[in-house]
Amino acid sequence: MRRSLKHFGADCLRRTSRKLDPMGESEYIEQLLEDMDRIIEIENGLGLAAPQVGENVSIFILNSRDLPLNGHRVFINPLIRTEGDMVKDEEGCLSLPGIYELVRRPGRVLVSALDVDGRSFNLEIDGYAARAVQHEYDHLQGVLFVDRLSPVRKRLIRKRLIEIKREYGPGNRIL
Ligand SMILES: [Zn+2]
Repeated sequence: MRRSLKHFGADCLRRTSRKLDPMGESEYIEQLLEDMDRIIEIENGLGLAAPQVGENVSIFILNSRDLPLNGHRVFINPLIRTEGDMVKDEEGCLSLPGIYELVRRPGRVLVSALDVDGRSFNLEIDGYAARAVQHEYDHLQGVLFVDRLSPVRKRLIRKRLIEIKREYGPGNRIL
């Protein structure tokens, strides 16, 4: 089965993800990563979380060509702790085409996760990579970056959200 990119309005983007068992589910993870790698490549994305391809499991990938991640690309069952001052910067999301907004997030993140071989690792990240990790981690909780906007900004993008829902199919709820 080839999975496809899901867009705003799809229920899978609003569910929380369950943890994975990297050993017991290695085949499933391998196949899921194949699809995620294909989609992030085609869409030229910076990051992609499993819910965005219809799977509510705790895994995301980041484009390690463009982000300094100490060689890490695959994050399984990630846990994060945020630190530092709040930083405002622009975000977009493959599941929300055409929407780019400034989002406030902590500037630094400590992440612990498993790699594709089930080995645990810890990373301290700042800069835009810290933002990317938080954005993808949010996906695993059913949270989208537009949820973090002010009521005024939410109102301003409401029309575009409705358009995305119309364009890409039936959905769950409007902000
Ligand atoms: Zn996203």
